[in-house]
Amino acid sequence: MVEIEEAKGLIDRNVFRNKSVLLHLAGAYGFVTDEDVFSDRDYPPFNRAAVDGFAIQHKELLSQNYLYTKIAEIHAGELRNISPSPNSCVQIMTGAAVPSSYNVLFKIEDCKVNGNQITVPAGDCNIYYNIDTQGKIVRKMDKISSAGEHCDVQLITVLASAGKSTIKVIKKPFVSIISTGNEIVPLESIPGPVQIRDTNFHTLNYFLQKKNITVDNYQICRDELDELKSAIDKSSGSEIIIFTGGVSAGVADFVPQALEHAGVEKIFHKVKMKPGKPLYYGRNQKSHYFGLPGNPFSVMVGYKLFVERAIDKLMGSDTRKDLVLPLSGERFLKGDRSEYFPVKIFNNIETGTLKVQPLHHKGSGDYTAAYKSDGIGFHDLSKPNLKDGDLISCILWE
Ligand code: AMP
Ligand code: MG
Repeated sequence: MVEIEEAKGLIDRNVFRNKSVLLHLAGAYGFVTDEDVFSDRDYPPFNRAAVDGFAIQHKELLSQNYLYTKIAEIHAGELRNISPSPNSCVQIMTGAAVPSSYNVLFKIEDCKVNGNQITVPAGDCNIYYNIDTQGKIVRKMDKISSAGEHCDVQLITVLASAGKSTIKVIKKPFVSIISTGNEIVPLESIPGPVQIRDTNFHTLNYFLQKKNITVDNYQICRDELDELKSAIDKSSGSEIIIFTGGVSAGVADFVPQALEHAGVEKIFHKVKMKPGKPLYYGRNQKSHYFGLPGNPFSVMVGYKLFVERAIDKLMGSDTRKDLVLPLSGERFLKGDRSEYFPVKIFNNIETGTLKVQPLHHKGSGDYTAAYKSDGIGFHDLSKPNLKDGDLISCILWE
């Protein structure tokens, strides 16, 4: 049996980053980039109108002339070369390219329009007023993002503007899920009197979908050594194989044994925690094998703590930092293991702070344990009696 931190360290030392692949930007969400990106041009690429209005020459404004004659109209996407004549103005739409001599732009709402005669507001203003000058935001060849960044919507917005239609990212792993147990039936079947629906596949599948990972191989396997061995064979193309059930001390808990037969090296079996103590992790040259105890809440905790850590490492993500927040109310730990418990995080509007509310459940066999929770809180064995306001670490589901 290993301590929780020891188990995390063992995963960190055994899992290494995948190679990179080139992806279209539209499919890159959730990946980590593996290249620095430089801007291919100035942005804006031209002096761009920030408002709809009339542009004049700044030097004429200094002569206190407020009446101008409109000589042209310029729309977005139009390239116009206009030679400036005295006391002239051009009407310009937002997003259009402003001709170089016209370098002050007044909002249409602030001007008086009488046919082609335009009166602009009195008073001085800076050159390029209401004009976003070329390269104001980004200069050609500026570094706009670095290798190792997470493709979230914020980064994708920037990459799309920089014309990055394909991006080098770190490959995601192929994943197999093997739900074990003679009692387990797929969701589509009507369970017999002593059968249980396969909840765990759906829980894990959803966690993986949140990372843009689709499950390559899903099997339900009986508690029989030969069946388990053939399930292990069928999943050999995956880098992550997740078993649920079959890792405890029952006489039919064959997963560790089947993995040993398949030549998988056990890295740890059993972690000093609650729920999920019988958790298993092993590996061979190509793949990482996780055996999560079968109860749905144990599966959720085991996935978030260990499987997700390994997937993040394969995909080049930094290890997630736990949130540290004050507890609401008291909590007492019985037994000799640290415990993860479901929590709701709420905003105390009087103090403007977040607090963590423990949710009650009926043990690890309670499939509703995590229902309505935002994540899990950690009750460390070193502090069995937690008081209101004590800081605790939390991991959010999303
Ligand atoms: P095990 O870890 O195999 O001893 O299973 C522990 C408990 O989890 C048992 O009550 C199982 O019926 C339940 N269980 C195991 N696998 C699943 C599953 N895929 N979906 C829902 N419950 C499960
Ligand atoms: Mg079982």
